[in-house]
Amino acid sequence: MDNNESSTYKQPVRGVIAFDDFDDSPVMPPKSGSDEPAKPKSAHGSGLSFMSFGSGSSGNCAYLGTSEQGVLIDAGVDPEKVFAELKRNGISPQAVKAIVLTHDHQDHVRYVYKTIRGFNKNIAVYCTMRVMNGLLRRHNISRRIKEYKVDIWHETPFKVAGMEFTAFETSHDGTDNVGFNIRFGEFNFVVATDMGVITDRAAHYMSQAHFLMIESNYDRAMLDNGRYPEYLKSRIRGPRGHLDNTVAARFVAEQVGAQLQWVFLCHLSNDNNTPEIALATMREALQSRGQTVGDASNAPDQRDRDVQLYALPRYDSSPWFVL
Ligand SMILES: [Zn+2]
Ligand SMILES: [Zn+2]
Repeated sequence: MDNNESSTYKQPVRGVIAFDDFDDSPVMPPKSGSDEPAKPKSAHGSGLSFMSFGSGSSGNCAYLGTSEQGVLIDAGVDPEKVFAELKRNGISPQAVKAIVLTHDHQDHVRYVYKTIRGFNKNIAVYCTMRVMNGLLRRHNISRRIKEYKVDIWHETPFKVAGMEFTAFETSHDGTDNVGFNIRFGEFNFVVATDMGVITDRAAHYMSQAHFLMIESNYDRAMLDNGRYPEYLKSRIRGPRGHLDNTVAARFVAEQVGAQLQWVFLCHLSNDNNTPEIALATMREALQSRGQTVGDASNAPDQRDRDVQLYALPRYDSSPWFVL
């Protein structure tokens, strides 16, 4: 690899302004998910199910688990919506054992206390101590949230809901930022969102993913030519900001092994990206390494393709995916 190649991963710089993820467009009311759950066949069924309830700067939350038990990844979507969608898919509030948090930005933590107090007081919050401290500084989250906390540490595996989680460092401007490698049987589901660059540890886990939920935040030309003020463009483009579609796609094309079965693009910008552009960028990258790409629809001509590719909707729920 020459020096230019390594510039796929932007070098850290100092002085990036840190503040919450936000989006200055109006928050749209959520619409309900599609009525017909898609259940694409995978080459080697893992037994895991996955559903996203929203993805992006307006709110992030997803379920991962089996039909018996699972976890919520982040808590940035109203639990009224989350548990209604889970119920439609046969998952009771009692089946949710934990919330695992990637970092302390509002779009990931806003509803963490309401989720527990309103639906299942046995849910534990798994996060690093610095993420919990970030939560406790927020005026809109009850300090009683600490009664539900379970401390986790980077690179130290923990088990919950029948899965083994390992938090790894990501590069972002939250108080503390992690992705998760989630091991279930022989399968790895990797969550890697809100990251300006791909850290070595994120690369290590993502390269071994069977199921990859990776940020594909912005199209560089749309961001550069868009209406955001320059300081915000700099923050998004910076090493502790968000991930460029092409950086995510190049990483997958060049570094993720052939075991990869599913790619979920997450945290797409409303202003600086479109699902069509993000999907096309990733699809071309997957095809460049000789793989056929399905659209996650479970249609007869799609379901037997090497990799299924789907962009998580910003405001809507995804279908219920059986991986
Ligand atoms: Zn975010
Ligand atoms: Zn964030």
